[in-house]
Amino acid sequence: MAEDPRDWTDETKLVRGGMARSPHGEISEALFLTQSFAYESAASADARFAGDAPGYIYQRFSNPTTQMFEDRLALLEGAGQCRATASGMSAVHVALTGLLRAGDHLVAGRALFGSCRWIAAELLPRFGVETTFVDATDLDAWKNAVRPNTRAFLVESPANPLLEVTAVGAVAEIAHAAGARLIVDNVFATPIFQKPLALGADVVVYSATKHIDGQGRVLGGAILGGEALMTEAYKDILRHTGPALSPFNSWVLLKGLETLELRVRRQTENAAKIADLVAAHAKTREVRYPGRPDHPQAAIIANQMSGGGNVLAFDLGSREAAWRFLDALRIVDISNNLGDAKSMATHPSTTTHRSMPEAERIAIGLTEGWVRMSVGLEGAGDLSRDVSRALDAA
Ligand SMILES: *Cc1c(COP(=O)(O)O)cnc(C)c1O
Repeated sequence: MAEDPRDWTDETKLVRGGMARSPHGEISEALFLTQSFAYESAASADARFAGDAPGYIYQRFSNPTTQMFEDRLALLEGAGQCRATASGMSAVHVALTGLLRAGDHLVAGRALFGSCRWIAAELLPRFGVETTFVDATDLDAWKNAVRPNTRAFLVESPANPLLEVTAVGAVAEIAHAAGARLIVDNVFATPIFQKPLALGADVVVYSATKHIDGQGRVLGGAILGGEALMTEAYKDILRHTGPALSPFNSWVLLKGLETLELRVRRQTENAAKIADLVAAHAKTREVRYPGRPDHPQAAIIANQMSGGGNVLAFDLGSREAAWRFLDALRIVDISNNLGDAKSMATHPSTTTHRSMPEAERIAIGLTEGWVRMSVGLEGAGDLSRDVSRALDAA
C-alpha cells in the first residue's frame, strides 16, 4: 500500500515531506535557480495561465524548490497549504493585508514583535484599518475589543519578549463568534511544540529566519492555513505584490527543516537547564520560561504546547545589572536574533522594544532589568558556566 505522508511522524515529514525528485533521482533536494519556465506549445502556455494545467509560470508565483519547502512545512503543520515569503515580516504583512480592507478592525495582542506592532499601529491605519491592542492573556479583553467590523485577531504565543502565553483555542472561539479570523505568529513555539491550526486558529505565520534556518544564514517566512482561505485571501496578493522567497533561500530552509526537530529539542533541553540555573541565582528577581511550572500561564501551556522552547527571559532588577550580565558573557553572543545554533542574549528595552512607548513597555511588564536569551546548541556545561559567571558579575 502507498504511504500517505500525512500519517508520518513529524521526524519523517521533516526529512522526506514535499520531496519532488527530478528525473536524475537526486537524494538532496534540487535547487531550481530559475525565474521562468518554457512551455511546450502556445496552447500549453495558454492552459497554464488559465490555471487549467499544472506547472510553473514565474518565480514570483512559485518555483519547484520553494514548492518543496512549502509542501514540507504544510505537512508538518497539518495545513492545507503553505506559501513561503521572503521574510517573517512579509508573512505577517500579507497575512494581515490579505484579510483586511478599509473600514475593517483588527484586535491584536499588545505584546508583539516590534515590526508586527508597527504594522498594526502605524501602517494599517493609513489604509483605514483600526487596531485595538489587548492584554492577550485576558479573554474578556479580547471579547470586549470586538466591534461589528472586526475581521481579524493577531496573537503571538509565546509572545516577545516576556514569553506571555495565550489560550489559542479560547481566543479562536471568540474570533469565530465575531466573524473574524485568528492569525497566530508561532515563531517562539516552533511547529515542533505547537500546532495552532489544530487548536482552532485560521492562519499561522512563521519567521523561518529563526529556528527553521536556525543557523544564521537567510531570511524567510511562511503563511499557512486551509486551502480555501489560502486561495481566497492570499493567492492574488502574493502573485501581484512580490514577496516571493528566493529559491536559494527556500533550499537553505528546506535543508534546515531536516534537522529542525533535533535542534529544537536539544536547544530546549539546554534552555530548561539554563532557566533553572538562572531561577536559583540570588541576582535574579524573576524568570519566565514556558517549560517551568512557575510560568504564569503554566496550565495553558500544558494544554497546548508539548515543549517549552528555547527562549527564556529574566529580570535582573536594573538596566545596569542587565548590561553587566551581557558584558560578562564569554560564549553567549549579545544579539537580538533567536532560534539559532549559537546562544544569544539581548536587552529588549534598549534594542528590539526601544521604539515601543515607555508606558506600553511598562504595561507589558518590560522594565529595564529584563534580559531575553535564546539558548543554542553549545554544550550545557559550557553554557551554564558562562551564564553563572555573568550572573555573578551582574
Ligand atoms: C523575527 C520575528 C518576526 C519577523 O521575522 P523576520 O524574518 O525577521 O522578518 C516576526 N515575528 C516574530 C515573533 C519574530 O520573532
